[in-house]
Amino acid sequence: MKKFPPVNDFNNFNFHRKQRRTVLREDSKRGSLRGVVCLAAIAAALAAGGAGCSKRAEEMRKYEDTRLKMGTFVTVTLYGEGEERLKEVGEAAFAEIDRVNSVFSLYDEGSELSRLNRREGGAVGVSDEMAEMIERSVEISRATGGAFDVTMEPLVHLWREARESGRRPGGRQIAEAKRKTGYKKLRIQGKSLVLSFLESGMSLDFGAIAKGYAVERAAGVVREGGVESGLVNAGGDIRAVGAKPGGGPWVLGIQNPRKRKSVLLKVFLKDAAVATSGDYEQYFEEEGKGRHESHIIDPRTGHGTRKTISVTVIAPDAALADALATALSVLGPVEGLEVLEKSFPLAEALIVTPDESLVFSKGFKRYTEP
Ligand code: AMP
Ligand code: MG
Repeated sequence: MKKFPPVNDFNNFNFHRKQRRTVLREDSKRGSLRGVVCLAAIAAALAAGGAGCSKRAEEMRKYEDTRLKMGTFVTVTLYGEGEERLKEVGEAAFAEIDRVNSVFSLYDEGSELSRLNRREGGAVGVSDEMAEMIERSVEISRATGGAFDVTMEPLVHLWREARESGRRPGGRQIAEAKRKTGYKKLRIQGKSLVLSFLESGMSLDFGAIAKGYAVERAAGVVREGGVESGLVNAGGDIRAVGAKPGGGPWVLGIQNPRKRKSVLLKVFLKDAAVATSGDYEQYFEEEGKGRHESHIIDPRTGHGTRKTISVTVIAPDAALADALATALSVLGPVEGLEVLEKSFPLAEALIVTPDESLVFSKGFKRYTEP
């Protein structure tokens, strides 16, 4: 575990400044910001390009479109031959995101998840895809000691209401919501795919994994469509398909959690996924009272996590990267990196702690150079 010195003022953080200058210098040397993709809103602008590494790359066609999906901007970038075919594959990738959303969205009243959450009684039949998602989520819950938990909806809901009303929930309300949470209170009966809730009032929320899953599925559609080079980026949950045209790695910029539109660090990857979770995206703060509550809930306390301000995970699969970024946000650097080493040897993480130190997993550095 390598730890950079803590800093008080992130804007004067030498490491950060040096990295940022490097980004700009290198990019101007190459003539543009091509190939640099920022995890989050700046992604679309910076993702532009990436081609131009070789003659063959120049011959390639590019498809790129950005659409509002799952409450975020999703950009699909594809390189290959045949403009029409790229367009078809791009459309199919967006259609897959819509399909996944129609199963797992908490906000679409007609989604399978909404129907499941509105169930009457303690048991409900689920689709194969829903069962797989729940089983996979429960596995991640077990491996993360319950830090990641898709039964957090009652607490998530309580804190969402607090954000809207500006009023902090009381201890009794938190305890009551906590009673309705806990992945150990879920049962899936294999063959008939019946999900049982062992406590009344329980509900599920895939907000910490579904975006990554949608991105992974869309990337699968891209590959099945015969496109070997592309990126699917849903507001910072990114899946790289293959390499950039010309064979080089994709260059992705990790956002500085305390300075919008500023790149903290660049990572270089091929055929892998990256996801970032941060307390700066949505949080609850009462005027004058200072306590900042992240939208990522620590299942043990029922409050927003306090151990991290941002976590970036690189993994072979975007759903896993998404889920682990949330789990490590709860676990913090010490427990988080232990869990990663023990149970997820193919994943790497960069954790920004509340004192704004950067903590890297052992293998992360391999992604910080081309
Ligand atoms: P992410 O932005 O991927 O970290 O996901 C955060 C979202 O996941 C929140 O907005 C909640 O909907 C949900 N969530 C919050 N805390 C947890 C948790 N401990 N485990 C799983 N999902 C959570
Ligand atoms: Mg997540």
